[in-house]
Amino acid sequence: MSRIALILVCLALASPALAQQRLQVVTTTTDLRSLTEAVGGNRVAVTSLVPPNFDAEEYQPRPQDVLRLKDARLVVRVGLDYDLWLDRLLAQTGRPEIDRGGPAYVDASFAIAALELRGMSVGPGDGHAHGSGNPHYWLDPGNAEIVTGTIVEALARIDPAGASVYEANRAAFVAKLASKLAGWQARLAPLKAFPLVAYHNSWPYFARRFRLDFAGFIETKPGVPPSPSHLAGIIEMMRARGVRFVVREPHEPDRDVAFVASKAGATVVTLAASVGALPNAVDYISLFDANVDALTKASAAR
Ligand SMILES: [Zn+2]
Repeated sequence: MSRIALILVCLALASPALAQQRLQVVTTTTDLRSLTEAVGGNRVAVTSLVPPNFDAEEYQPRPQDVLRLKDARLVVRVGLDYDLWLDRLLAQTGRPEIDRGGPAYVDASFAIAALELRGMSVGPGDGHAHGSGNPHYWLDPGNAEIVTGTIVEALARIDPAGASVYEANRAAFVAKLASKLAGWQARLAPLKAFPLVAYHNSWPYFARRFRLDFAGFIETKPGVPPSPSHLAGIIEMMRARGVRFVVREPHEPDRDVAFVASKAGATVVTLAASVGALPNAVDYISLFDANVDALTKASAAR
């Protein structure tokens, strides 16, 4: 065997071993996976429990999720009652270190200023989502700075040798995000004048950052499909306020969205509320690129 062939064989044998040495991180969502990858770089291997383009608020855990958690060195969740189903999985896993309060457990909503806060948390059994506040906080790029800070702290705690790498990765990511943000804000500025309607209220953090005005929602309450009287009220409001755009996420039912849009003469815009929900939203930064593209295209076509 030539020396080069021998080196190639050695590399092939070594790479699975290297992959094994990576810190196994499990996140509930694809957005947290992308943010963890951004700061963890090649020291981590990250799995998201909820597959792309699933509604994480309605997720039904699968048997393999418990197996994934058994191997996890770190668990990262959205919190704010968004992924309540994780608690049952963590209990089944029987590893206190990754359970609430454990050293390898990260609630990414820590230090986030939540919007639409309510006095009392409600469980998933009462038929609607958004218990203790609106949980879609990752849709403000400013909050990614806070979330990556929380993740870096946890990674450095369980892998102190990588601490400086995690800090450097985060600094580079935050700088890239800041430069992208200016462009996104400039491109969305013309939409400030036009109120929007969405199927589900995923958008208050996005709206605050980009100064958009979501005037109403097709769902009667978060997680509750619309009643005919609610739909009629939304259509009336859209006509009165001149709402031109209805935002839909790909997993949401098309029928009610199409009905409302046609009755009010509005355009349907499909946006991704999570990484992977649209084919071009492959990571955290391209999630915003995809949404800004979709909104500016729809606006230009009117
Ligand atoms: Zn929601």
